[in-house]
Amino acid sequence: MATDLPNDYTLIKADRIFDGTGTAPISGQAVLLNGGQITAIGPVGELSAPDGSNLTVIDYGDSTILPGLVDGHTHMMAPGDGTHGDITGAEQDDVLLMRALQNARTFLHAGVTTARENGAKNKVGFSLKEGIRRGLSEGPEMVISGRPITITGGHFWYCGSEADGVEGVRSEVRKLVKEGADFIKIMATGGSTWSSNPLRPSYTLEEMTVIVEEAHRFGKLTAAHCASMQGIKNALDAGVDMIIHCVFEDETGMYEFNEPLAEQLAAAKAWVNPTLHVVQAGIDQAVQIGYNRGWLTDNEQISIDSANRSLDTRNESVNRLIKMGVRMIAGSDSPWGAFPPGEFVKEMIALTKAGLTNTEALVTGLSHAAESIAVGGKAGTLATCRPGDVLVVGGNPISDLNALWDIKDVYKSGVRVTRPV
Ligand SMILES: [Zn+2]
Repeated sequence: MATDLPNDYTLIKADRIFDGTGTAPISGQAVLLNGGQITAIGPVGELSAPDGSNLTVIDYGDSTILPGLVDGHTHMMAPGDGTHGDITGAEQDDVLLMRALQNARTFLHAGVTTARENGAKNKVGFSLKEGIRRGLSEGPEMVISGRPITITGGHFWYCGSEADGVEGVRSEVRKLVKEGADFIKIMATGGSTWSSNPLRPSYTLEEMTVIVEEAHRFGKLTAAHCASMQGIKNALDAGVDMIIHCVFEDETGMYEFNEPLAEQLAAAKAWVNPTLHVVQAGIDQAVQIGYNRGWLTDNEQISIDSANRSLDTRNESVNRLIKMGVRMIAGSDSPWGAFPPGEFVKEMIALTKAGLTNTEALVTGLSHAAESIAVGGKAGTLATCRPGDVLVVGGNPISDLNALWDIKDVYKSGVRVTRPV
């Protein structure tokens, strides 16, 4: 991997600069990179490097310079090809780590310079972060949970952090912190894991409260997977910082937008990561399988119809939450399920279908995502004295988010990433 020397300066120019905060793009400006950082942002013509330095100037023309993307929810160990989580979870750690490294590179090449890893098996998440930190492999800056904490037999039990009872969960949080977890991921309900039930809460309120208290005592944020309503309620009552999935379904699977719960969500200022596209990706894959074969079985059709209904209600609830002022962040949940790595833009586009403007959707994957995962001081916003994590895309993503597919260059810590052509 390339590194820059103290004397190396890179000056990048483009028609637009979007700083990630939501302020309208500005023109006539440039970004100067040196020493791994953004050294200056200012009018083209006023920025220069010291005499005798080695300056590279790149003019991207009709393009937009923006901060590197911040994906608030990844599972790097998964293939993203529709393989069930229980099958992935049964694989060997060394294979999972190799796949995680490969996926991390794909994320970086797609413009994601910071990623929050929501749970991998055993040591895989920790080793992934350490490998990238040492430069053994390239990837985004990783913010990791290590393993999600879950009840015995609960969602993601195969990752290795089953813990029950207040003393059990307390010691598991301490163990995760000791191993290097940046935040604590809690499975507040079951999920796709075969031995778990997504419609039921897993932890008691008492256990959830201890997990959150213990995490906060170490200065760590918490995020809870909530695939149904009682899980959301327990998580909010326990003081969880981020609600993931945030599905408004009761124990029978019936959708009902719960106004008081939504008000509690807004009042708590908890972040919501709705993970919309991962549902769409599953539908798309099932439809494609039927298309390739020429027909769908009755069961396949039933599950596609049910997933479509569930996506409609999730879009509706996210739309209502947005109107109530609940703060959303984009986290792809990829490469989980059938959501391949490197397609984070699809989650931002999905959020526009639920009611965000293009600018708001971009902010959910930039400054808001960074703030929500406690790295707002170094990622998600273009500003001086921050790491030189910068993305350049063709065209203008404010008028069309699909511009994010047209990657001109990715800079990580001030260095241009070499990507396959
Ligand atoms: Zn997830």
